[in-house]
Amino acid sequence: MPGECQEPAIGIDLGTTFSCVAVWRRNRVEIIPNDQGNRITPSYVAFNETERLIGDAAKNLAAENPTNTVFNAKRLIGRRFSDPLVQKDLMLWPFKVVSGPNDKPMVTVTYKDEEKQFHAEEISSMVLAKMKEIAEVFLGFEVKNAVITVPAYFNDSQRRATKNAGTISGLNILSLLVEPTAAAIAYGLDKKYINIGQKNVLIFDLGGGTFDVSLLTIENGIFQVKAIAGDTHIGGEDFNNRMVIYFVKEFKRKHKKDITDNPRALTRLRTACERAKRNLSSSAHTTIGIDCLCDGIDFNSTITRAKFEELIMDLLEECISHVEKCLNDAKMDKESIHDVVIVGGSTRIPMVKQLLQEFFDGKELCTSIHPDEAVASGAAVQAAISTGQGNYEIQDLVLCDVIPLSLGVCVEDDEMRVVVPRNTTIPTRKVAKLTTFHDGQTKAKFKVYEGERPRTSDNFLLGTFYLFGIPPAPRGIPTLNVIFDIDDNGILTVSAVDETTGNRKSVTIRNFKGMLSAKEMQRMLKEAERFKFEDEELKKKFEAKQSLENYVYGTRATLLTRNLAFKLISATDAEKLEEEINLAIEWLEEHKDAEAHVFVKKREKLESILDPVITKFTTLSI
Ligand code: ADP
Ligand code: MG
Repeated sequence: MPGECQEPAIGIDLGTTFSCVAVWRRNRVEIIPNDQGNRITPSYVAFNETERLIGDAAKNLAAENPTNTVFNAKRLIGRRFSDPLVQKDLMLWPFKVVSGPNDKPMVTVTYKDEEKQFHAEEISSMVLAKMKEIAEVFLGFEVKNAVITVPAYFNDSQRRATKNAGTISGLNILSLLVEPTAAAIAYGLDKKYINIGQKNVLIFDLGGGTFDVSLLTIENGIFQVKAIAGDTHIGGEDFNNRMVIYFVKEFKRKHKKDITDNPRALTRLRTACERAKRNLSSSAHTTIGIDCLCDGIDFNSTITRAKFEELIMDLLEECISHVEKCLNDAKMDKESIHDVVIVGGSTRIPMVKQLLQEFFDGKELCTSIHPDEAVASGAAVQAAISTGQGNYEIQDLVLCDVIPLSLGVCVEDDEMRVVVPRNTTIPTRKVAKLTTFHDGQTKAKFKVYEGERPRTSDNFLLGTFYLFGIPPAPRGIPTLNVIFDIDDNGILTVSAVDETTGNRKSVTIRNFKGMLSAKEMQRMLKEAERFKFEDEELKKKFEAKQSLENYVYGTRATLLTRNLAFKLISATDAEKLEEEINLAIEWLEEHKDAEAHVFVKKREKLESILDPVITKFTTLSI
């Protein structure tokens, strides 16, 4: 745990579709509303000719600028371009993603009339920077430290990439916290479960892009994750996609037109489907109506809740099978679960609740914590604990996570030797004793993998490194210790030591394939600062322009209304004023894109001409 410090830290739930920020203040969690007054902010970033928009502004304008409005970065982060899941997503996204160095997916947009490429980490960092800013406006001071949540099912590379996103956004990441644990903290506090014997709690979190199920025990302030299961690719977005595909087919049938290569039409249809889906959580049927969807054709249709349920049933059943897997992994039966807690926006779908309740033989589900805010609340508690800000109720909470996938090395040809089994509690250190395969071998190659398959070729390669300088010896004699260290955040460091000779040469994997190098991180940090600077400059420019416009139009309005009525100034003065104002309006038309200082100068100049007359005017009018 980082050392105690006095500065309040925030908790951020960086969601696939929505993000939420919270802080621990006055002995409780406060969810921080954004500038629109909303307690959750869309994880959207949009780029256009003049500016970069983040959050509500970006999402609201998505249909106008579909190819440059980026969302779902969480589904890309820490993944490779060739990943079949990424390939599947790409087909339905209106923005472009291409393959970059090391098979990394690069989001490609047009910003200020230039093509720009961004790593998923950079897009996420922009969302995080927005959340930081929301907190700063609310709290009135600069926020430096944060806890960010990640799905329990995120692997090492996805966690590292998320942490990097935090760093690029200018935050110091105290720790990553897994979402179900965060939700369990919120629930445990809500239920006052901290000190009343052991409770087994199942957290079912179905959000926009991910599904996580976790089994935790809460006992004497210790939150212990027993097992996790889930899928980083099941969520509300997939339900939307199913409905989008359904209506695309219907449109094709009715109007003989395919809208899949029309990003604007697809975005408008997706927005309508999202709305329809939400309606179906409370009504049995709903309508869809989009004017001029494609080639001037209006699209009107209806969908029933039953049809929608049929469209997504296989995904929901998959969710339930993950619940079963989670119970099996934890070696617990349904009856031993005290509470089934549902979080995530998609748990509002009635069929989700119904299937889960049926699985638990009719047990009441716990809905007392807010599905959109629970995760951020837990993160805020963790942030408070990390910075020594928590009260007696929370300061002794201990959180124990597990690793989501087994970690191991490749031995012989293609065999996966598991060193740290799945669901091992972290932090942890595990050592595997290996040896050489050939007589006189002086170097050994270690390939580190993540996954459950017996063959490494079916698993995910995390990195490769060599250990040199092994004294020549017959095969099988040297003892090579491979050490896996996993820190509180679930981030892995692997080293190898040649024990035979006491020669403790160790090598740590630093550059995982596909991960960002230190140089790239530096570049992104610089760029993030530049973007922030540009955004601020743009804001200043808008403010200066607005101020000039207000002044010009305000003066004109007063001149027209008051002077006409009361004839407070002479006709010559009035004419002079009017002429200056008209010239200023013309000037404004011609200098729409001028810099802030130009507007400021212009206003000063105008004031020096107009104010003496206006003063006469106002003093007279009193
Ligand atoms: P994430 O954490 O993955 O960003 P959230 O937990 O915020 O996701 O949930 C967002 C998802 O919840 C979206 O896909 C949204 O469509 C869905 N959602 C929100 N309200 C409803 C509702 N009333 N009915 C069905 N789905 C909903
Ligand atoms: Mg979520």
